[in-house]
Amino acid sequence: MRPIDLRSDTVTQPTAAMRAAMAAAEVGDDVFGDDPSVNALQARIAAMVGKEAALFTPTGTQSNLCGLMAHCQRGDEYLVGQMAHTYRWEGGGAAVLGSIQPQPLVQQADGSILLADIEANIKPDDAHFAKTRLLALENTWGGQILPQAYVEAATALARRKGLATHLDGARVFNAAVASGLPLADIVRPFDSISVCFSKGLGAPVGSALVGPKELIARAHRIRKMLGGGMRQAGVLAAAALHALDHHVERLADDHANARALAEGLQGLPGVTVQPPQTNIVFVDLVPEKAAGVVDRLRAAGVLCTGLYRLRFVTHLDVSSADIARAVAVLRATL
Ligand SMILES: *Cc1c(COP(=O)(O)O)cnc(C)c1O
Repeated sequence: MRPIDLRSDTVTQPTAAMRAAMAAAEVGDDVFGDDPSVNALQARIAAMVGKEAALFTPTGTQSNLCGLMAHCQRGDEYLVGQMAHTYRWEGGGAAVLGSIQPQPLVQQADGSILLADIEANIKPDDAHFAKTRLLALENTWGGQILPQAYVEAATALARRKGLATHLDGARVFNAAVASGLPLADIVRPFDSISVCFSKGLGAPVGSALVGPKELIARAHRIRKMLGGGMRQAGVLAAAALHALDHHVERLADDHANARALAEGLQGLPGVTVQPPQTNIVFVDLVPEKAAGVVDRLRAAGVLCTGLYRLRFVTHLDVSSADIARAVAVLRATL
């Protein structure tokens, strides 16, 4: 039987309709600005997010890095969560390639950084310190939606202190669908936003950096330097456009599947399930249950990641019937 792959929402296969859209895409050389599909995607995502301009990138890591480097000069600093993707999971690119110093800060259980911690870590104008230039937040974080009142307060604090703001919105569409808040309202307080088409939206490749024209122009130059100037990238942009047309509202199905998975695991001794807000379910295990559990689940046909804390991510290629089967496997194995 086909394994149920809950390792990540990045494992989706392009659908037949998406492949057809890719095959039919009009393309040109995007380094010359000639690719109509890339240009259409950039205009479309900028309008959806409610900003002036957008830049298509091969990955979210590159999109975030273009954003960080467009905001910060060599020797500047960004404030970022200790467990945030833009600090911990991007190979140190901001420091290595941008000469930008991260100031990682402790995150609360909901992903937020205390306002007092943000304020206390904005360095005074003094030759001893790097120049604090940017606050970077992430939404969703670990599948959790950052409270919008917090987003408003943190970005207002940053602005008051003269900092720019960046949102790693790899899964911000999940936040919008789950909360019912319009996407543009969620991201309005930020100067720049990175969104991924290759997570829950189900495109094979691609992210975008969105923000003011002048910032995106700087990011465009940086993308070229990072090796992200792609030629007939319209075949990829067509997949992302198809995803925006057909795969946004259906994220609600992934969220319902995540809830069903969490509910199906209730009541197992030594197993604690975090109620999911979007498409990621974390399951904590007592040590006796944890030994070799990922391998045992794999052998039983359910793929996930983790050690004591297992992570299950629902997506386009997981049906509610798959979730019922996964629950049965998990209950038997745990
Ligand atoms: C996946 C992800 C990214 C970008 O990852 P790529 O694999 O480089 O596309 C950025 N931020 C978060 C929170 C992510 O989950």
